[in-house]
Amino acid sequence: MPAGRSRRTNPVSSEFGLIRRLQAQTARPDPQVALGIGDDTAILKTSAAEWTLMTTDLVAEGVHFDLATSSCEDIGYRAAIANLSDIAAMGGTPRFMLVAIAIPASCSSTQIQQLYRGMMQASAPYRVRLVGGDTSASKHGLFLSITLTGAVRPGRALLRSGAHAGDRLYVTGTLGDSRAGLDLLRSRRRTRLSAAHRRFLLARHHRPSARIAEGQWLVAHGLAGAAIDLSDGLTGDLRHICDNSGVGAEIVEGALPISAACRAYAAMHRLRPQDLALQGGEDYELLFTVPAQQQTRFERLAKKTPFRFTAIGTITTTRSGLRVRTAEGVTKPLPLTSYEHFRRPS
Ligand code: ADP
Ligand code: MG
Repeated sequence: MPAGRSRRTNPVSSEFGLIRRLQAQTARPDPQVALGIGDDTAILKTSAAEWTLMTTDLVAEGVHFDLATSSCEDIGYRAAIANLSDIAAMGGTPRFMLVAIAIPASCSSTQIQQLYRGMMQASAPYRVRLVGGDTSASKHGLFLSITLTGAVRPGRALLRSGAHAGDRLYVTGTLGDSRAGLDLLRSRRRTRLSAAHRRFLLARHHRPSARIAEGQWLVAHGLAGAAIDLSDGLTGDLRHICDNSGVGAEIVEGALPISAACRAYAAMHRLRPQDLALQGGEDYELLFTVPAQQQTRFERLAKKTPFRFTAIGTITTTRSGLRVRTAEGVTKPLPLTSYEHFRRPS
């Protein structure tokens, strides 16, 4: 059957359905694979002293970025952060990078150099080494795929599956900034937002942070049960922790860490800042759980760090599902509103 025809009659309808099928097909145990498909990175038992983390992330022009609103340096930077953030979510140390690019005729060699400069700027603080990649022409826009390895002490990585009912839920940093920044870029509306707030939100979108130090700190002190990085949005990524751990969760809306700039943006555009925090993607903050009996120790140790951690809710039993306690004091089911490729508008 011609490829075009097969696409029309049998479309991929769900990103996560596809991943679940692949996971089932590759479930056969392998003594070297500590963890395969289904977490932020794979874990390979490469030596007795150190296990290897592996992750890859692809960004496509028109889907993940727009050359009209982002510089090539920023696109490279964000693509590297997406990978670094997955290593952070496992509590690992980033090590080696491979970069594959497909370049359309419209892209100049200066733009490609800028793309690499952005990737290097994001990964230089972690002394990541670029060790290879692949290059192709593209007939349909720019594609950039980064593969990153990392290292972690055997058996110590933070998994999505480590949450238990009664654990407290925490996030790093603030939520919703990247989404507000993206809206600012896309919107043609004039905004009365102050120049400082605008600069802050655009920087949080173009140049997010990977919370490597925070993830490593959680591993070093044995404080976290489960962890994930927030790429799709809090609502969707929390769902991954709950599915993988067989638990439910309750988020307290009033506790969500939201920057002054994000609040100002929301107020000006008649949006609820809590919705930006719950649904906005690409914040690359860490979401993690702390067992109830570790909470006092966690709070005591956290005070001595420069890190920003905020308690935003509790892990519950799977029967309670995923809920949110609103600022008005009402508890309701958390809507499924995070980003998913292939999802059709309902
Ligand atoms: P993240 O947002 O943390 O990068 P994803 O949702 O992209 O995670 O992926 C979840 C899991 O599915 C990961 O283990 C990833 O390696 C795996 N995965 C995603 N796409 C594919 C694919 N096309 N083939 C094999 N595994 C995949
Ligand atoms: Mg991730």
